Amino acid sequence: MPERSYKTDALVLYSRNLGEADRLITLLTWEKGKLTAVARGARKTKSRLAAGVDLFTFGNYQFHRGRSLDLITGQQVKEHFAAFREDAGLYPYALFLSEIAGRLSNSAEPSPEPCALLLQGWRLLSGRDRPDPALLCRAFELKMMELAGFCPYLQGCLQCGTAEAFLFSPRRGGLFCPQCAESDALRVSAGTVALARRLLGTPLARVKLIRSSARQKKELAGMAAAFRRYHLDIGKLRSLELIRLVEPAP
Ligand SMILES: [Zn+2]
Repeated sequence: MPERSYKTDALVLYSRNLGEADRLITLLTWEKGKLTAVARGARKTKSRLAAGVDLFTFGNYQFHRGRSLDLITGQQVKEHFAAFREDAGLYPYALFLSEIAGRLSNSAEPSPEPCALLLQGWRLLSGRDRPDPALLCRAFELKMMELAGFCPYLQGCLQCGTAEAFLFSPRRGGLFCPQCAESDALRVSAGTVALARRLLGTPLARVKLIRSSARQKKELAGMAAAFRRYHLDIGKLRSLELIRLVEPAP
């Protein structure tokens, strides 16, 4: 029989009001994967749960198993990334990291790697020496897809292996050379392919050292979006609509 209460480090992905005074929050947790739980009375000013239910919070949470949803019974906030809620230029990117992490984590299994990656993404984005937010998002998304086991193949032609592969098929999930490509493949530039490989092979903390052009970032974003539509049933991302509003038109 499962224990009636448990504890885990977690990151708040979504948070919304429920009823008169409660909050319903979705967390990505180190021990239990993604879960949604109720923080009863968290909107009352004196609630001891109030501090830990906001978006972009990292903390240790205690839960009590409920019949349908579990209840949050205690918490200890470790870091709160308030900058994202105060800076309209950063918020969409921070939300993108949360949305991608949340949509690609659907199991109740321990998820230490996605959690660590998301926490690192939030830290880098809120730090003083932050990387280009758009490039951070591209790197984060590729790495998160890789962790989830759904990463497009970018190392060469998916069929014959040649490195000269600059035709991307969202449907077949990777790059192809002209001989192996089918008619649905889209031509991408060598620079964009090189950028994608570098982002995958570079730790998130070193993404700020990678140079890229606006065109490469845009092309890579398009490849990732097309791949997501074909292979990941994750629906619309609110963050992408917001990013469109803050990014300068190319
Ligand atoms: Zn080929």
